[in-house]
Amino acid sequence: MTDWADTEPTTAWAPRPTWLDQRACADVPTNLFFPAKGDNSSVKAAKAICASCPVKAECLQMAMDNVERFGIWGGTSERERRRMRRDVRLGIAAPVLRHGTLSAYNDGCRCDECRRVNSIYKRAWKAQRRAPINHGTYSGYVTHYRRNEKPCPACVAARSTYNAARSRTTRNDNREDAA
Ligand code: SF4
Ligand SMILES: [Zn+2]
Ligand SMILES: [Zn+2]
Repeated sequence: MTDWADTEPTTAWAPRPTWLDQRACADVPTNLFFPAKGDNSSVKAAKAICASCPVKAECLQMAMDNVERFGIWGGTSERERRRMRRDVRLGIAAPVLRHGTLSAYNDGCRCDECRRVNSIYKRAWKAQRRAPINHGTYSGYVTHYRRNEKPCPACVAARSTYNAARSRTTRNDNREDAA
Protein backbone atom coordinates (compact mmCIF):
# COMPACT_ATOMS: atom_id res chain seq x y z
CA MET A 1 0.00 0.00 0.00
CA THR A 2 1.40 3.35 -0.99
CA ASP A 3 2.10 5.43 2.06
CA TRP A 4 0.76 8.83 1.17
CA ALA A 5 1.84 10.20 4.51
CA ASP A 6 5.37 9.89 3.15
CA THR A 7 4.73 11.08 -0.34
CA GLU A 8 2.61 14.12 0.41
CA PRO A 9 4.48 16.34 2.84
CA THR A 10 3.70 19.44 0.78
CA THR A 11 -0.05 18.89 0.89
CA ALA A 12 -0.16 18.49 4.66
CA TRP A 13 -2.48 21.47 5.01
CA ALA A 14 -5.07 20.36 2.51
CA PRO A 15 -7.91 17.94 3.13
CA ARG A 16 -7.10 14.58 1.62
CA PRO A 17 -8.59 14.69 -1.89
CA THR A 18 -11.28 12.04 -2.38
CA TRP A 19 -10.03 11.09 -5.85
CA LEU A 20 -7.01 9.46 -4.19
CA ASP A 21 -9.27 6.49 -3.46
CA GLN A 22 -9.39 5.76 -7.18
CA ARG A 23 -5.66 5.90 -7.81
CA ALA A 24 -4.08 3.06 -9.75
CA CYS A 25 -0.97 3.08 -7.55
CA ALA A 26 -2.74 2.26 -4.28
CA ASP A 27 -1.06 -1.14 -3.95
CA VAL A 28 2.21 -0.25 -5.63
CA PRO A 29 5.26 0.40 -3.41
CA THR A 30 5.94 4.12 -3.13
CA ASN A 31 9.57 3.45 -4.08
CA LEU A 32 8.64 2.87 -7.68
CA PHE A 33 7.43 6.46 -7.99
CA PHE A 34 10.68 7.88 -6.64
CA PRO A 35 13.27 6.27 -8.90
CA ALA A 36 16.95 6.92 -8.37
CA LYS A 37 18.76 9.01 -10.95
CA GLY A 38 19.19 7.05 -14.15
CA ASP A 39 16.82 4.25 -13.12
CA ASN A 40 14.89 4.43 -16.37
CA SER A 41 13.19 1.08 -15.97
CA SER A 42 11.45 2.28 -12.79
CA VAL A 43 10.42 5.50 -14.53
CA LYS A 44 8.91 3.44 -17.34
CA ALA A 45 7.14 1.08 -14.96
CA ALA A 46 5.69 3.95 -12.91
CA LYS A 47 4.53 5.80 -16.01
CA ALA A 48 2.85 2.65 -17.30
CA ILE A 49 0.78 2.50 -14.12
CA CYS A 50 -0.11 6.20 -14.40
CA ALA A 51 -1.14 5.71 -18.03
CA SER A 52 -4.13 3.62 -16.99
CA CYS A 53 -4.90 5.63 -13.86
CA PRO A 54 -8.41 7.15 -13.79
CA VAL A 55 -7.22 10.16 -11.78
CA LYS A 56 -4.08 10.99 -13.74
CA ALA A 57 -5.21 14.56 -14.49
CA GLU A 58 -6.02 15.30 -10.85
CA CYS A 59 -2.71 13.83 -9.78
CA LEU A 60 -0.71 15.93 -12.23
CA GLN A 61 -2.65 19.02 -11.23
CA MET A 62 -1.84 18.39 -7.57
CA ALA A 63 1.84 17.94 -8.36
CA MET A 64 1.90 21.19 -10.33
CA ASP A 65 -0.09 23.05 -7.66
CA ASN A 66 2.36 21.93 -5.00
CA VAL A 67 5.45 22.38 -7.16
CA GLU A 68 6.24 18.76 -6.36
CA ARG A 69 9.88 18.41 -7.31
CA PHE A 70 10.47 14.73 -6.71
CA GLY A 71 8.98 11.61 -8.17
CA ILE A 72 6.54 10.53 -10.85
CA TRP A 73 3.13 12.17 -10.56
CA GLY A 74 0.29 11.99 -13.06
CA GLY A 75 2.53 10.21 -15.54
CA THR A 76 5.20 12.91 -15.56
CA SER A 77 8.80 12.84 -14.41
CA GLU A 78 10.58 15.52 -12.43
CA ARG A 79 12.25 16.77 -15.59
CA GLU A 80 9.00 16.89 -17.54
CA ARG A 81 7.29 18.97 -14.85
CA ARG A 82 10.30 21.28 -14.71
CA ARG A 83 9.91 21.80 -18.45
CA MET A 84 6.19 22.45 -18.09
CA ARG A 85 6.93 25.15 -15.50
CA ARG A 86 9.63 26.59 -17.73
CA ASP A 87 7.21 26.74 -20.69
CA VAL A 88 4.79 28.70 -18.52
CA ARG A 89 7.58 31.12 -17.57
CA LEU A 90 8.52 31.54 -21.24
CA GLY A 91 4.89 32.11 -22.16
CA ILE A 92 4.78 29.01 -24.41
CA ALA A 93 2.17 27.34 -22.20
CA ALA A 94 -0.72 28.88 -20.32
CA PRO A 95 -0.26 28.99 -16.55
CA VAL A 96 -2.62 26.92 -14.46
CA LEU A 97 -3.22 29.61 -11.89
CA ARG A 98 -5.50 28.28 -9.21
CA HIS A 99 -5.75 30.45 -6.15
CA GLY A 100 -4.98 28.85 -2.87
CA THR A 101 -2.13 26.82 -4.36
CA LEU A 102 1.62 26.98 -4.00
CA SER A 103 2.13 27.25 -7.74
CA ALA A 104 -0.05 30.37 -7.89
CA TYR A 105 1.98 31.86 -5.02
CA ASN A 106 5.21 31.01 -6.84
CA ASP A 107 3.80 32.62 -9.96
CA GLY A 108 3.56 35.82 -7.96
CA CYS A 109 0.00 35.86 -6.62
CA ARG A 110 -0.22 37.35 -3.15
CA CYS A 111 -3.98 37.02 -2.58
CA ASP A 112 -5.07 35.94 0.92
CA GLU A 113 -5.66 32.33 -0.09
CA CYS A 114 -2.28 31.96 -1.81
CA ARG A 115 -0.44 33.60 1.09
CA ARG A 116 -2.22 31.36 3.56
CA VAL A 117 -1.23 28.21 1.63
CA ASN A 118 2.35 29.42 1.30
CA SER A 119 2.73 30.00 5.02
CA ILE A 120 1.21 26.61 5.87
CA TYR A 121 3.53 25.02 3.33
CA LYS A 122 6.54 26.72 4.88
CA ARG A 123 5.55 25.49 8.34
CA ALA A 124 4.97 21.94 7.06
CA TRP A 125 8.35 22.02 5.35
CA LYS A 126 10.14 23.18 8.47
CA ALA A 127 8.37 20.51 10.54
CA GLN A 128 9.42 17.89 8.03
CA ARG A 129 13.04 18.97 8.29
CA ARG A 130 12.88 18.64 12.06
CA ALA A 131 11.00 15.32 12.09
CA PRO A 132 13.09 12.28 12.98
CA ILE A 133 14.10 10.09 10.03
CA ASN A 134 13.09 6.45 10.10
CA HIS A 135 16.56 5.15 9.18
CA GLY A 136 17.01 1.85 7.43
CA THR A 137 13.74 2.19 5.51
CA TYR A 138 12.84 3.30 2.04
CA SER A 139 10.85 6.22 3.43
CA GLY A 140 13.99 7.24 5.33
CA TYR A 141 15.83 7.23 2.03
CA VAL A 142 13.20 9.49 0.45
CA THR A 143 13.34 11.87 3.41
CA HIS A 144 17.13 12.19 3.10
CA TYR A 145 16.66 12.80 -0.60
CA ARG A 146 14.03 15.48 -0.02
CA ARG A 147 16.29 17.22 2.47
CA ASN A 148 19.05 17.33 -0.11
CA GLU A 149 21.33 15.36 2.16
CA LYS A 150 23.40 12.27 1.57
CA PRO A 151 21.33 9.21 2.61
CA CYS A 152 22.85 7.30 5.52
CA PRO A 153 24.24 3.79 4.84
CA ALA A 154 21.22 2.10 6.51
CA CYS A 155 18.79 3.91 4.23
CA VAL A 156 20.95 3.24 1.16
CA ALA A 157 20.97 -0.45 2.10
CA ALA A 158 17.17 -0.47 2.49
CA ARG A 159 16.83 1.01 -0.93
CA SER A 160 19.20 -1.43 -2.62
CA THR A 161 17.40 -4.37 -1.02
CA TYR A 162 14.23 -3.07 -2.57
CA ASN A 163 15.86 -2.46 -5.95
CA ALA A 164 17.40 -5.93 -5.98
CA ALA A 165 14.03 -7.50 -5.23
CA ARG A 166 12.45 -5.44 -7.96
CA SER A 167 14.99 -6.27 -10.65
CA ARG A 168 14.57 -9.96 -9.82
CA THR A 169 10.83 -9.59 -10.40
CA THR A 170 11.44 -7.70 -13.64
CA ARG A 171 13.84 -10.39 -14.84
CA ASN A 172 11.27 -13.08 -14.07
CA ASP A 173 8.62 -11.11 -15.93
CA ASN A 174 10.92 -10.82 -18.92
CA ARG A 175 11.63 -14.52 -18.84
CA GLU A 176 7.90 -15.22 -18.81
CA ASP A 177 7.44 -12.79 -21.69
CA ALA A 178 10.17 -14.54 -23.65
CA ALA A 179 8.77 -17.99 -22.92
S1 SF4 B 1 -1.39 9.25 -11.96
FE1 SF4 B 1 0.17 7.81 -11.31
S2 SF4 B 1 1.03 8.61 -9.40
FE2 SF4 B 1 -0.89 9.70 -9.80
S3 SF4 B 1 -2.43 8.60 -8.65
FE3 SF4 B 1 -2.44 7.74 -10.71
S4 SF4 B 1 -1.01 6.02 -10.70
FE4 SF4 B 1 -0.64 7.23 -8.82
ZN1 LIG C 1 -4.01 33.88 -5.39
ZN1 LIG D 1 18.91 7.25 7.10
